[in-house]
Amino acid sequence: MDVRTDAGSATVARLARELPDYARQVLGALEAAGYEAWVVGGWVRDALLGRAGHDVDVTTSAPWQETARVLRAAGVEVHETGTAHGTVTAVVDGRPVETTTYRVEGAYSDLRHPDEVRFVTDVREDLARRDFTVNAMAFHPERGLLDPFGGEQDLAARVIRAVGEPDRRFGEDALRVLRAVRFACRLDARIEPATQEALRRCAGGLAAIASERIGQELDGILATGRVAWALRNEFAVMAAAVPELGPMEGFDQKSPYHAHDVLEHTARVCAAVEEFSGGAPGKTLRWAALLHDVAKPACWSEDVSGRGHFFGHPEAGARVVRAVMGRLALPGEVTRGAEALVRLHDLEVSPTRRSMRRMLAELERLAPGQARPLAFALLDLKRSDAVAKAPGCMGYAADLDRMSVALREELASGGAWRVRDLAVSGADVIRERGIEPGPGVGMVLSQLLEAVMEDELPNEREVLLAWLRW
Ligand code: ATP
Ligand code: MG
Repeated sequence: MDVRTDAGSATVARLARELPDYARQVLGALEAAGYEAWVVGGWVRDALLGRAGHDVDVTTSAPWQETARVLRAAGVEVHETGTAHGTVTAVVDGRPVETTTYRVEGAYSDLRHPDEVRFVTDVREDLARRDFTVNAMAFHPERGLLDPFGGEQDLAARVIRAVGEPDRRFGEDALRVLRAVRFACRLDARIEPATQEALRRCAGGLAAIASERIGQELDGILATGRVAWALRNEFAVMAAAVPELGPMEGFDQKSPYHAHDVLEHTARVCAAVEEFSGGAPGKTLRWAALLHDVAKPACWSEDVSGRGHFFGHPEAGARVVRAVMGRLALPGEVTRGAEALVRLHDLEVSPTRRSMRRMLAELERLAPGQARPLAFALLDLKRSDAVAKAPGCMGYAADLDRMSVALREELASGGAWRVRDLAVSGADVIRERGIEPGPGVGMVLSQLLEAVMEDELPNEREVLLAWLRW
């Protein structure tokens, strides 16, 4: 077969060196049996960028039954993970290699599932069904880089370009609209103009896509740390994916505290949480940043002086978080955490241990078991929110530094902010008060916790027992 090796032999040699042994074994076993096999997709793309470590996917001329037979005969463990699409997963040295028969997809009458997959014999046909040029390259350690659509050049120039005719490709599978944005964020790329125009025309097709697939792609966009770019440059796509975001665009806050519309403010907060957490905020904080003001447009009212207010938007926002993230099938723990952060993003706090203790108690109530990590996330969110508002609010960011000091002190001191932190238990309450087990016990413990949190009583067993007897 003729192979374009315009990657240059130095690049090919580097990729050949970097290709992990376990992948080489899969290619070798298939080719020794007379089939053709290539590494495709993400590994090739990321290796060209010098980012090794992506999972290796293999594409082969062997029908999947043959792939399974040949690899098993070579002593490789094989799982039949997606045989309807020609995919089996080989496990070599504990590393999975998805191995798929060359295929193309038939018609997509519903914009989301191909009506059939058809197996083919030419790897080029398989590459042609892939979404973007940067994802449509194949590599083989001896035959070099097979790059029929100019993916290597687009990758170097940081361009996301649909393979083939963009409207048709987005029409076949609207999820590709969101994937374009995800890869643009991930590669810090721009979207090629014809692909971009088709994105806008086809974004509405996302309505037909299963919500959990949208959730996965959005989570992927957030994980790149560049969702601010997506909000500013691809809002039509983002709002098609999450219609609740739509009203943020152009929403004038009419408030001296806000220089930007809700959308630009949100983009700034998303960018700021990346900075404040050194580029590694957790999923929960990223989702909370994206959605923290989502309910502002719905909660807006104007007072007699013409100034805007958003009473109740944190509570309403938390409800939107639950609805959106539930629909997108994000993990329950992340959803509960994001709900708590949005609910409390305007909580009044001060740089005292007492205030930090109250904040921990609130977080614990809203997201049991997550209060510690969420407390730091909440301070990062509040700080980001402050710097993203009008310049007059910047001083608050300095206060927040003192709050994180107070929070660390509070956590290090082992202070009590949960009932189970108290130096006495329910059994003590029952014995000392002579009451029956039941809700009354919890009420007494809550009262005690309240007194301890307010520094009215020290969290010492003898003192608390004496209070119970009194
Ligand atoms: P990631 O690191 O995000 O997983 P990836 O390139 O491995 O990157 P996947 O979503 O795992 O992306 O898909 C693997 C490959 O399959 C892609 O590189 C692309 O060639 C192809 N592909 C995946 N989804 C689609 C799609 N919806 N339409 C067309 N091709 C697709
Ligand atoms: Mg992948």
